[in-house]
Amino acid sequence: MRIDLITLFPEMCKAVMSESIIGRAQKSGAVQLHFHQLRDFALDKHKRVDDSPYGGGNGMVMLCEPIALCIEHIAQQIGQKPYVIYMSPKGKVLKQQALKELTKHEYITILCGHYEGVDQRVLDEFVDEEISIGDYVLTGGELPALVLMDSLLRLAPGVLSADECFINESHYNGLLEHPQYTKPAVWHGEAVPEVLLSGHHSNIEKWRQEQSESLTKTHRPDLLAEE
Ligand code: SAM
Repeated sequence: MRIDLITLFPEMCKAVMSESIIGRAQKSGAVQLHFHQLRDFALDKHKRVDDSPYGGGNGMVMLCEPIALCIEHIAQQIGQKPYVIYMSPKGKVLKQQALKELTKHEYITILCGHYEGVDQRVLDEFVDEEISIGDYVLTGGELPALVLMDSLLRLAPGVLSADECFINESHYNGLLEHPQYTKPAVWHGEAVPEVLLSGHHSNIEKWRQEQSESLTKTHRPDLLAEE
């Protein structure tokens, strides 16, 4: 999977993505990330990428042309139109099921907005999907894009050591994950559930499934209603 990110803050995003699991996945070649400075596609010598909104009002709106040029540049590099996502509080709120669908795309381009947002015309022409990370507003699309990238890239082949790493996790199959324990077996007087020390795999699986179901029922009954 290749992800191209269009942003006014490529260095900040690059720094986050160079750490830990995603950093290693880039080094191993399992995923490719490209960070594009939108100002490089500005048309004037001041590298301007925004202007005041028609109709008046606060703030600035991001210009069509630099965004269009940047997406066309990416399309030229990869030899096809990428699947384009705009991070937006007006978009569909991100869910694990949607991430599964997105893994089908080999080339994804993510556009980060800033200021008051982006001129609607460039969104209408190029954007395939708008995604929100929740019903609140951030100052820019960079943190939402990093959330999307991290949650998506860990599903790409070769990023985690085994598919089981995410298959049994919260939300993958509509349930929350069972509680996890590690050493020592007793900590502050609290013992690890006995079944986990039994070595009896089918009993452990049964316990985990039951825990998962009851946790979902108490913490997130809305997930069960969605089924
Ligand atoms: N004026 C816009 C509105 O009311 O819908 C909000 C613009 S916001 C200050 C600037 C940028 O941050 C947006 O263009 C978007 O890219 C990003 N953004 C803010 N909140 C977001 C969210 N919840 N999910 C995804 N992106 C978000």
